[in-house]
Amino acid sequence: MPKNPSVFSKSICYKIAFQSFVLCLILASFSCTSKTESHPKKVVLVILDGIPASILEKTPTPHLDAIASQGGYSRAWLGGEKDGYSETPTISAVGYNSMLTGTWVNKHNVKDNSIQFPNYHYWTIFRHFKENFPQKTTAIYSTWLDNRTKLLGDGLAETGNLKVDYHFDGLELDTVRFPHDTLSRYIHEIDKTVASKASEDINRFSPDLTWVYLQYTDDMGHRYGNSPEMEAAVQEADRQLGEIWNAIRNREENHNEEFLLIVTTDHGRAQGGFHHGGQSDEEREIWIASNSKFNKRFDQKPAIVDVFPTVADYQEIPIPRDHAMELDGVSLLGDLFATDLKGKVDEGKLIVNWKNHGNNPNGKVWITFGNQFRYGNKDEYQLLGEVNLSDNSAEFDVSKFEFRNAKVVLEMPKGFLNYWVEKE
Ligand SMILES: [Zn+2]
Repeated sequence: MPKNPSVFSKSICYKIAFQSFVLCLILASFSCTSKTESHPKKVVLVILDGIPASILEKTPTPHLDAIASQGGYSRAWLGGEKDGYSETPTISAVGYNSMLTGTWVNKHNVKDNSIQFPNYHYWTIFRHFKENFPQKTTAIYSTWLDNRTKLLGDGLAETGNLKVDYHFDGLELDTVRFPHDTLSRYIHEIDKTVASKASEDINRFSPDLTWVYLQYTDDMGHRYGNSPEMEAAVQEADRQLGEIWNAIRNREENHNEEFLLIVTTDHGRAQGGFHHGGQSDEEREIWIASNSKFNKRFDQKPAIVDVFPTVADYQEIPIPRDHAMELDGVSLLGDLFATDLKGKVDEGKLIVNWKNHGNNPNGKVWITFGNQFRYGNKDEYQLLGEVNLSDNSAEFDVSKFEFRNAKVVLEMPKGFLNYWVEKE
């Protein structure tokens, strides 16, 4: 009989524990390898400027069709809530920033193409990506310099000195290489150069998160309206998109990478295709195509603000709760629970409603008074109560609260919806 059985059994325990620890390490490193190294998940976002869905759909676009045949194509929308607090001009930079931040203009504050006072407290998906994965790479290929320097805010103190790892832009400022002509041929030449460089880099080293922006179609819309010239420009954009798509397929086939490619536009057009900026249905209507299959939100007219949470889901970018509570879009991937949150205060009662889509019905309604997030501070939320999402609406007594404005948030099993209300 051993003198000290407890020591003996302990040492066996340690040995077993140590062996299982080593085994865990091996398993962990194995699963790490298979997750992050054998199937890196890459994202490419492409904006083709100012192409109405009606023009796109009647113009032959074989490359876009090839992409959509793997995933899907849908008409989509932007512009926030028409006549509501989030109504958003259908202007280029405004649309890009709605995609990048997942919010409407009342939050991101880019009101036009002069991009005077962006509210950088609403982080772009690029910033979230880089904060979480500093070792991974981001890239932009753009016919407009401001997309990097002002919207992404590359190198600005206000964006925490975000660093965009690869960029190819600003060619529109090079009047020697691209002499400016009144017909915008130089923009066409720049688009071609930008698309080629993007596909070359994706082919060579495949940045993890890439944004490509091509402009020529918008110039042709402004000049010629809905016209053969516009359709020819759309076909050119499609050819350039085809180069990028080829690079992506090469990486998928030969480098074991997976890609989410989202192609979209930044506004529709009105008045015969010459103009945009207003709130007509045709200016608010856009489209989204992707190589990925999406959830049913995609078939029910998605919004440009859905791109951000979709990318976050795909690349598993953890979005801090206070940021996630501000997002105006929902993910096109995974379970869909609810959309279209609205609310109003009437005789001391807060009445909220939403559209239920899910099977798992529990949610929570939160409220905060004022809006500290926009100043970079924390909002203190109070729980109003739990709701059954399948009820599609709920009422809460808010008569005891003193406030003028409040933010209401519906917490779902995954993600949040938010709406701003005023006391009458
Ligand atoms: Zn535009």
